[in-house]
Amino acid sequence: MKKSLIFLFVALFIIQGAFSQQPTCTADSARVWLNFLASDELRGRANGSDEIEKVAQWLSEKFKQFGLQPVAGMKDFVQPYIFNKDSSFIHKNIIGYLPAKNEQGNENPFIVISAHFDHIGISHFPVNGDSIYNGADDNASGVIAMLAIAKNLSNQQLQTNNPILFVAFSNEEEGLLGSRYFVNSNVVPIEQIKLNINLEMLGRSHEFGRNKFLITGTQHSNFQDIVVEFNKETEWGVADAGEIVNFLFRMSDNYSFVEYAQQHNFCIPAHTIVTSLGFEHIHQVDDEVEYIDFENLNNLIEHLTQLILYLSNNKIVVQCN
Ligand SMILES: [Zn+2]
Repeated sequence: MKKSLIFLFVALFIIQGAFSQQPTCTADSARVWLNFLASDELRGRANGSDEIEKVAQWLSEKFKQFGLQPVAGMKDFVQPYIFNKDSSFIHKNIIGYLPAKNEQGNENPFIVISAHFDHIGISHFPVNGDSIYNGADDNASGVIAMLAIAKNLSNQQLQTNNPILFVAFSNEEEGLLGSRYFVNSNVVPIEQIKLNINLEMLGRSHEFGRNKFLITGTQHSNFQDIVVEFNKETEWGVADAGEIVNFLFRMSDNYSFVEYAQQHNFCIPAHTIVTSLGFEHIHQVDDEVEYIDFENLNNLIEHLTQLILYLSNNKIVVQCN
């Protein structure tokens, strides 16, 4: 009797565990991916380098593994572009398409989840013998969050009502050039983008504490109000960093969407999510993996996955102010 009761408890525990673990981006893959992206071997992922080319290929492979599709009209996940007719280096954005759960859903506007995968390469001024800008937080953390969310949502049970584009931008560090190319290329009809959630610097938790993130550009749309409402049922909260978030709004790839829309007399809600302002480590050679809070990052990945499902499947309307 006792034994069977214990067996019953164990079985219940296992069953409950199996359900409570959905969705299932394994915490291990986030760590492995981030270690790769921020490794010395990739020499700071500089634009125009062999190393960034390697990352672009790696991202394409990941999108393929997760079962994402190329956007209609593209033969693969790669969006090539050049600057000033200089074809000596072909820059690349990597774009993956995840259809909505049914045909009808694909008529709905797109949600774009983005992160930049370039960084600033090698420093001419080594600090304690270290000259590599590993960019673990800026922005290997955002890239692996985007990948993990793509992996989560491509899971058959987690489908959304909207088609989703996952986009890894290059040349952010050169002045948002990859994202600006993307919005002007009309690879998808840009006016059909419902929302851009751009991910940057999600790896550190020391500034605002765990379970906190910032949304840039609070005045731009009602997105933050919606997220605050969603957070209520969870352990997560939006940190208050004051006016700086409206400055940071212009500092990352979300702003290319905003700018494009303004120029064409409409508006796209487009925001960046960060977990720190990072003034002490941004663009420093000690932006290293050892400072990444993986537990917090993995929890945030699960939280953002649920947020996207909530936004899409409850037909939440995000509106510009
Ligand atoms: Zn960045």
